[in-house]
Amino acid sequence: MTHDINRRRLLKALGTGAASGLLAPFGMAFGQAAPRNLLANPRFDRDPFQLGVASGEPAPDGFVLWTRLAPQPLEQGGGMVMRPMAVTWELAEDEGFRRVVRDGQALARPELAHAVHVEVEGLAPGRPYWYRFAVGGATSPVGRSATLPATDARVDRVRFAVAGCQHLEEGHFTAWRRIAEEPLDFVFHYGDYIYEGPDRGPGERMLNGRPFMPLRRHVGGEIYSLDDYRRRYAQYRSDPDLQAAHAAVPWFFSFDDHEIDNNWAGEFDQDGTPPELFMLRRAVAMQAYYEHMPLRRRSMPHNGHMRMYRRAGWGDLLQAHFLDTRQYRSDQVNGDRDGPQNDAVADPSRTMLGAEQEAWLYDGLRPDHHRWHAIAHQVSLANLAMRSRETGEVVHSMDQWSGYLGPRRRLLGHIHEAGMKNVVTVCGDAHRHFASDLLQDHEDSGVISTEFLATSISSGADGAGEDDDFNRNARSLNPQLKAITDRRGYVLCEVTRDEWRGDLKVLDRVTVPDEPVRTYASFVVERGRPGLQPA
Ligand code: FE
Ligand code: CA
Repeated sequence: MTHDINRRRLLKALGTGAASGLLAPFGMAFGQAAPRNLLANPRFDRDPFQLGVASGEPAPDGFVLWTRLAPQPLEQGGGMVMRPMAVTWELAEDEGFRRVVRDGQALARPELAHAVHVEVEGLAPGRPYWYRFAVGGATSPVGRSATLPATDARVDRVRFAVAGCQHLEEGHFTAWRRIAEEPLDFVFHYGDYIYEGPDRGPGERMLNGRPFMPLRRHVGGEIYSLDDYRRRYAQYRSDPDLQAAHAAVPWFFSFDDHEIDNNWAGEFDQDGTPPELFMLRRAVAMQAYYEHMPLRRRSMPHNGHMRMYRRAGWGDLLQAHFLDTRQYRSDQVNGDRDGPQNDAVADPSRTMLGAEQEAWLYDGLRPDHHRWHAIAHQVSLANLAMRSRETGEVVHSMDQWSGYLGPRRRLLGHIHEAGMKNVVTVCGDAHRHFASDLLQDHEDSGVISTEFLATSISSGADGAGEDDDFNRNARSLNPQLKAITDRRGYVLCEVTRDEWRGDLKVLDRVTVPDEPVRTYASFVVERGRPGLQPA
């Protein structure tokens, strides 16, 4: 009943806005007049909110609200009239929208695939808010977001999920549904939000050495153009489990490789494409990424670059450093094939973060009033040795920090020399859970930090569990590795004053829908004593 009244009010607000002239609200919101090509009274014959809603990048005083209008998500232009139009938004202190604290209008522009990013400011810290959008007689689903605690607040507990690697063809996104059901403060998505590969046709294929029948198929070939990337995001974003997780809590994001191309590094792709050509692809991929994530305006791509490294704080409890380990890194060495850690791998002139970001990280990663520091990044720091299937020799990944030993030594050296015994890192990319102690590679440095590497949401399908050669070899070659399993899921972190708990959550199957989640293993890290202990 109340919802209906509010819904009518919302629709009325849009109607009167269109009738009485939109100049005033746009003048306030954008510092500019309504565009000359504004479509004043959009109408839709299908729901324009099929891609759901999302919020992200929370701060103590606000966050970003997101939606994208796409009545026909897989069609060119999302089935939209290619003109800008006004979308009304509302933010309330309660789920029923009885106490609306902010509302306004935002432009959905064809230049940004009719995505809407609203940066809300001036809110109260440390509390939840609910939001929704309306346009042309249609109302969006309701999303829930939350502001961060005040910078100087005492905070006793933060809970968040670490997840990523969601290959649409390889499994249901049930893990996202389970994340939506968890009581969480936020989600950290470490990357591989989409995969860029082509539809490979019907029928069985091989996946990690086992026959696999794809559950769903990518639309179209490998993606290169802006419209290709937009359509891929629209396909992924149509998934109801993924939408549920977006609507449940605010997210922090980073991209890894597959948002652009497998194992890209700086200006280089994996195929030897001339950098000036790859940079064209990188630019459109970043635009589509920006369009589909609730990112702040400061992250908007500019000439093929976007600023993604940043920090966020939860009162005196936790400071998180979100890294970008793709955009500034040196190219992989040794042909980006798993191999020995030779001189090229150890070359200290190579970089993982770029000089500027590395200096920025060390500047903020210092003992201070925060009980904990988190490094939220993309690929493993654990320096995992593997047994080569072909040659039997001990090899390392050239794409993870193990392929960038100079930067790895500098980072762990910095944490060690700063005397910080309260740093935990979270990442993903490996499509398996790995829980590891972090030590230097070249000396008995003692345990410096701790890493929770979250497995994939769906990439790798059901997986082999514990019982495969890779896992057995990894266990025998890596004393720093305390748990490994090839199942889908996420890591749940619960950070309290003196303890950081990590639960490795798994689903036994993603080839069937709606599987339950269970905890494969749990560890705690004691503040002041880096390294994993069984919970
Ligand atoms: Fe992945
Ligand atoms: Ca990856």
